[in-house]
Amino acid sequence: MTVKLTEKAKLIIDLLRNAGFEAFAVGGAVRDSLMGRVADDFDITTSAKPEDTKKVFSVFPVIETGIKHGTVTVVLDRTPFEITTYRTEIGYADSRHPDSVSFVNNVTEDLARRDFTMNAIAYSPYDGIVDPFCGYRDIQNKIIRTVGDPYKRFSEDALRILRALRFSSVLGFEIEDNTAKAIFELAENLKFVSSERVYAEMKKLVCGTNAQFVINEYIQVFKTILPINGDYKAIHKLPNDHAMRLYCLFGESYIDALTVLRADNKVKSVCRAISSSKPIPTDETELKFYISALGKEAAKTVISYRKALFNEDSDNKAELMLNSEIPLYLSDLAVNGNDLTKLGIKGKAIGEALEILLKAVIKDEIINEKEVLLKYLSSNLL
Ligand code: ATP
Ligand code: MG
Repeated sequence: MTVKLTEKAKLIIDLLRNAGFEAFAVGGAVRDSLMGRVADDFDITTSAKPEDTKKVFSVFPVIETGIKHGTVTVVLDRTPFEITTYRTEIGYADSRHPDSVSFVNNVTEDLARRDFTMNAIAYSPYDGIVDPFCGYRDIQNKIIRTVGDPYKRFSEDALRILRALRFSSVLGFEIEDNTAKAIFELAENLKFVSSERVYAEMKKLVCGTNAQFVINEYIQVFKTILPINGDYKAIHKLPNDHAMRLYCLFGESYIDALTVLRADNKVKSVCRAISSSKPIPTDETELKFYISALGKEAAKTVISYRKALFNEDSDNKAELMLNSEIPLYLSDLAVNGNDLTKLGIKGKAIGEALEILLKAVIKDEIINEKEVLLKYLSSNLL
């Protein structure tokens, strides 16, 4: 088993050690590296107190990210590294955040506060792997297991429930039985997790290779915080796009769900477009109007969604048309508002005239050339 550190991560560990402190890489990047993946976002855990860390890295830009919790961010040649003092967490009155943290003096105690065995492995080139909770074995067996009693760990911080589900989806790991039981029993605690964190986790979760399985298996858990009404059993058929996949999960409950999640406008507009979409026409002219009315971005989304989920556009006509040079939008016309102003057309009539031209072009009644379009207007409108 090997962890491949980046040069910069090794340099951070070296500088801390040279100053007399212990230092290890830890967390997701160690896990990913042990899985044989290329990892570059190494977090560092150290015996140095934040003030000491700041001194060691005084020649580099240092950001006091969470200095109260022991975290400083050091920027090495534009790469930020989170360096956190060995710590433990005390009290979780709100089922989400520790009431306080206190610094501890060995790495094993720090690893004990981490969520899952696979995330509680430390590595340095000098000490090798420190793995008191057998995380490497769990990685090999593709198992997600809390460090310690899952009921206790999920009661401390309910975000861990969602993290377990997200990791299961993204890494394709199975959740160990007792950990899974605790997830079902403590699902109600998810209401203590902020909408931002739920949204961030859900966006990653729906795009995981194992999304369909995890959602299906844990549907009751998701339903404690989100209204779910979609065709989620088919979610794996969709491209890896979180907006489309969220729609597939929520279906017609998407407005309520996106409100709960405080989703961004881009996701909202994708969901809206899919929700109000009609079957993709097979007739060429109808298809042109279909794409034209949606606009390029929404058409792309709707077509790829309906192709994947409803097997429409089996001859790829719509997809080809989307990528063609065929004029479909007002901006494709060989004339613009200025040209029409010169003809004496004013105000609202400009937009209407452009629409008339586009319609005629789409119907192949005229070709999209400036002179032809202007002449058409003169004889039809003026
Ligand atoms: P990702 O690939 O999403 O970055 P990660 O495991 O690195 O996964 P981070 O949120 O970057 O996740 O956290 C870094 C490490 O901090 C984790 O590996 C874990 O050891 C610890 N950690 C993060 N969140 C929690 C939590 N809610 N409870 C306990 N430990 C946590
Ligand atoms: Mg990380």
